[in-house]
Amino acid sequence: MALSIYNTLTRRLEEFAPIQAPQVGLYTCGPTVYDFAHIGNFRAYIFEDLLRRTLRLQGFRVTQVMNLTDVDDKTIRGSQAAGVQLDDFTRQYKEAFFEDLRTLAIEPAEHYPAATAHIAEMIALIAKLLAKGYAYHSEDGSIYFSIAKFKPYGQLAHLDRDGLRSGARIAQDEYQKENASDFALWKAWQAADGATAWESPWGRGRPGWHIECSAMSMKYLGKSFELHTGGVDNIFPHHENEIAQSEAATGKPFVKYWLHCAHLVVDGRKMAKSAGNFFTLRDLLQRGYTGREIRYALLSVHYRQVLNFTFEALAAARGALKRLDEFAEKMQNQSPPAAAGREFQPVNAELQSKIENWVAGHVAAFTRALEDDLNTSLALAALFDLVYEGNKRLAAGALTPAQAHQALQALAQIDRVLDVQPGITPLPPQTIIDLAQARLEARRRKDFAAADRLRRQVEAQGWIIQDTAEDFKLKRSGAASS
Ligand code: AMP
Ligand code: ZN
Repeated sequence: MALSIYNTLTRRLEEFAPIQAPQVGLYTCGPTVYDFAHIGNFRAYIFEDLLRRTLRLQGFRVTQVMNLTDVDDKTIRGSQAAGVQLDDFTRQYKEAFFEDLRTLAIEPAEHYPAATAHIAEMIALIAKLLAKGYAYHSEDGSIYFSIAKFKPYGQLAHLDRDGLRSGARIAQDEYQKENASDFALWKAWQAADGATAWESPWGRGRPGWHIECSAMSMKYLGKSFELHTGGVDNIFPHHENEIAQSEAATGKPFVKYWLHCAHLVVDGRKMAKSAGNFFTLRDLLQRGYTGREIRYALLSVHYRQVLNFTFEALAAARGALKRLDEFAEKMQNQSPPAAAGREFQPVNAELQSKIENWVAGHVAAFTRALEDDLNTSLALAALFDLVYEGNKRLAAGALTPAQAHQALQALAQIDRVLDVQPGITPLPPQTIIDLAQARLEARRRKDFAAADRLRRQVEAQGWIIQDTAEDFKLKRSGAASS
């Protein structure tokens, strides 16, 4: 089955077809680094991580770009309030952000461009929009995009064109649909900007927020690419304005599929800094929750459904993970020691048909659920079906070591996407098993020098050999146990 995803642009489920398979360009709007990210933000980043991993599982080659907004209204205000330079102010939050990504096992993107390192690209894009007549100078030396000039304006947010206040201007980066009007591409320097300013052909100033993402996405992914994502609050004005700027400049379709996740809410209100109802990842770690518990909780609800944040949900995540861990341990104890290997491969349609064992149906159900617009709640149900059936077979004494091994393979396969069982992912590659096997044989011949050398080779590649009565087991070194 092919991957189908809900495209905000068409308001329909569509079959995913890249412009040039197997390459896939994915642009994910990143954090504004003026504070620690809250877990509402991480809901968006985890949804994007899920998308990325699902695409990779399907055999696509993903190039993901996540921008770091390190200059905008909020970062400038924050650095001034802290009395430090903008760079120094944003650096600490960039570092914290990458640390948080690691805590949540979010796979790194291929590029993390910072807005302040791409001012030249933004200036070039604005120059093009001026030259083509889509942009104009205002009295104070700023430059605005004229929404009246770009006929499809409003297509993403489904705005009523008659209601547009073309000619009216808005200088702020964030505003509501009711205020749809010409927006700032370049903001002339004002006293409130302090030392934050760049030279441009139009005098000193700074870019607007929206142009940052147009310039950086097209620099790394080309004029047209497959996927662009964010939370639903990004649809308007941010993504609407990105489409206008990019398509007006290039004359080409900008993005094929727009995906947006619903909000993480607290008591029915969007979790947001401005609402004061937020928890940072660090707040929750301090309360004793682990990264993988938070990851699980954020993954467990379908991305287009509003997710209500509660501590009960975190407790449920803890319980679910305990059940998975216990199951994995039982399967490990039951599986044949030296068979803990065999390189694990992605289950694509072809391979799937070759796996004739009791877990295949569960893994297929898991994969099908993801292919259905990343339906994680269904996918998790498939995973727990596997756990249920495995436990039942084990209790009945009807699970052979080979079948236990198949269950472990299925868990490892599933965890390539979920990444909540670090002890299980990945199973040792064949090269490691071969080395461990060679070491076992060296030991049996009493060639201890060779055995030691082989053990060190295995360890250097991140695996630990544990001797058992008959042969050995392989464990990942440094695998998180939390
Ligand atoms: P920001 O730093 O505000 O630009 O937000 C970064 C990302 O987090 C964007 O994709 C937002 O749409 C997303 N986001 C912000 N708040 C929430 C929330 N409460 N739930 C889900 N996503 C959010
Ligand atoms: Zn953006």
